[in-house]
Amino acid sequence: MFRVILYLLLTVVLISMLRGVVGVIGKLFGDFVGAPQAPQARRPSVPSGGELKKDPVCGTFISTATALQKKSGGEVYYFCSAECRDKFRA
Ligand SMILES: [Zn+2]
Repeated sequence: MFRVILYLLLTVVLISMLRGVVGVIGKLFGDFVGAPQAPQARRPSVPSGGELKKDPVCGTFISTATALQKKSGGEVYYFCSAECRDKFRA
């Protein structure tokens, strides 16, 4: 029984390590592909699914693709709901 738990723990650790490595490689690869070939067509580095931003009111992370936006003092804030957006204004 202990062995099963140990294997499960090992699997979880391995998966999280793999995810970290894949993320780093993806970043490097993205820079490598993006930088030298397309200097004119500069695109903002926003993934198609939208970036994750933190709701400053309730602390929830939301995708910029679906979040409510509010510009304030040159910065854009993202909110999970109109409720949070209204609270932020107050
Ligand atoms: Zn919220």
